[in-house]
Amino acid sequence: MTALASYRRITIKIGSALLVDKAGKLRAEWLAQLAQDVASLKGEGKEIVIVSSGAIALGRGLLGLSALTLTLEQSQAAASAGQIALSQAWAEALGKHGIVTGQILITPNITEERRYFLNARTTIRTLLGLGAIPIINENDSVATAEIRYGDNDRLSARVATMIEADLLVLLSDIDGLYTAPPAKDPNATHIPVVERITAEIESMAGGAASHLSRGGMTTKVEAGKIATLAGTAMIIAKGTEAHPLARLNTGGLHTLFKAATSRAQSRKRWIMGTLSVAGTLQLDAGAVRALRQGKSLLPVGVTKITGDFERSDTIAILDDTGREIARGLSSFDSADARLVMGKNSDRMGELLGVGNRSEMVHRDNLVMIGIDEEALV
Ligand code: GLU
Repeated sequence: MTALASYRRITIKIGSALLVDKAGKLRAEWLAQLAQDVASLKGEGKEIVIVSSGAIALGRGLLGLSALTLTLEQSQAAASAGQIALSQAWAEALGKHGIVTGQILITPNITEERRYFLNARTTIRTLLGLGAIPIINENDSVATAEIRYGDNDRLSARVATMIEADLLVLLSDIDGLYTAPPAKDPNATHIPVVERITAEIESMAGGAASHLSRGGMTTKVEAGKIATLAGTAMIIAKGTEAHPLARLNTGGLHTLFKAATSRAQSRKRWIMGTLSVAGTLQLDAGAVRALRQGKSLLPVGVTKITGDFERSDTIAILDDTGREIARGLSSFDSADARLVMGKNSDRMGELLGVGNRSEMVHRDNLVMIGIDEEALV
């Protein structure tokens, strides 16, 4: 059993209760073992993104806040002090394996608003491309109640879908989903695989949370909904013991929530769901033929452009008579698109600088109306 073998880009969420003990101290030895697991997954060619909780828990200790429940102001102060310690802990633990870490603090507007979303995604992808591991947490010290996830389960699901991860692993203090919360019901049995999150599955989650984390099983199943509907599978596994990822990979108990759709399909459904397109591209007959054969749209086949759009905006694609035949995400903003329209792909470097895409719309970001659409229903 190698639970992680088939996944290439993995987001791993680490709960506070794993990283920080009840006295508010970092579990440094455990973190060192986890870092070893992460380094060996990376060595297998996997891209790893970590969503780490623990800022508030560490900050409590640092600031001497011992009350059972902190006020909002105290939590935010604790997060502020604790985040420094948390980042440092990750940088040191992964640094021992020659891995550079990058810190990213997120609020919901970043994962939900397009401009921020694209930018955060680019930063994360760039870090991964440079061989670094992004360490992500919620920006708890400035987030207000209205703009707060409040739990890293759902936050990690949004991050995983944003970067189109194959898999989200939630490491917590429970080894998966049970038919009922096991602390309350001795007859509860473990569920190894969830094909689809139904109302019945949701009702099994109950509401129990561990001593430090915000989310219980409920937010984990909610995270599962976000992830699986976007084509990202999710695993819940127990992370408290040494080498939790190696353990998971060699048969450790866990619950796998299967992706409800493929990521490509989910992206295409999203493209077709765009209510208003930002612009149009009109094609010559040759480009229309190429698209119908499943090829990407190259600048040379574009004869006319309307609208003002940004890179990755949804645009309508028209045939030579002006009829809409497809929708897609533009690889260029409208200014660059106008610059390269009608030009051969081998001139892209000279026109836009090296490193730019040569397709106007990549096949993966394109939905042919009538052809691909049927497969999306
Ligand atoms: N973002 C919080 C922290 O770092 C944790 C939230 C959670 O436990 O889910 O302390």
